[in-house]
Amino acid sequence: TSLRQGFLADESATLQLGATLAAVLHGGIQLQLHGDLGAGKTTFTRGLLQALGHQGRVKSPTYTLVESYSLPPLTVHHFDLYRFADPDEWHDAGFGDYFAADTLCIVEWPDKAGACLPPADLVLELSVCDASRNYRLQAFSETGHQCLSRLAT
Ligand code: ADP
Ligand code: MG
Repeated sequence: TSLRQGFLADESATLQLGATLAAVLHGGIQLQLHGDLGAGKTTFTRGLLQALGHQGRVKSPTYTLVESYSLPPLTVHHFDLYRFADPDEWHDAGFGDYFAADTLCIVEWPDKAGACLPPADLVLELSVCDASRNYRLQAFSETGHQCLSRLAT
């Protein structure tokens, strides 16, 4: 199946979704995160990073554009392109070089990079629903499909 969706009652559910995804993601994957400000994209990423063994803070990359985490055998690059004024900034920043077989790239506000960004393997959409959230997770590549199929039902 190429689509998962569900309800995230509270912050801990969003963190848990990150942890669940961490178990099936691997290097060479790009996961794009869609959703309004405050939808939970960075919260989700924190759950994912902590499940991969990261113990410190998870800083929102809003100003730095990317925060990188060395979690052998993986490096996770967490992008936030909200402040991009122009998609060409993607190339100017050399971000293409961050994509490699041993890196997992998680991208908030991917639309800001337009067609400069490589195509996503997986797209997670978070939407605000009263005091909770809904999510939709979709696969857009063979690798993405394989990841979803490894998620427990
Ligand atoms: P984004 O990165 O999408 O702008 P953040 O993760 O920084 O959003 O902030 C999301 C806010 O929503 C945080 O205050 C977090 O505690 C809260 N939150 C996350 N998931 C949920 C949820 N499932 N239900 C209610 N609040 C949530
Ligand atoms: Mg964020």
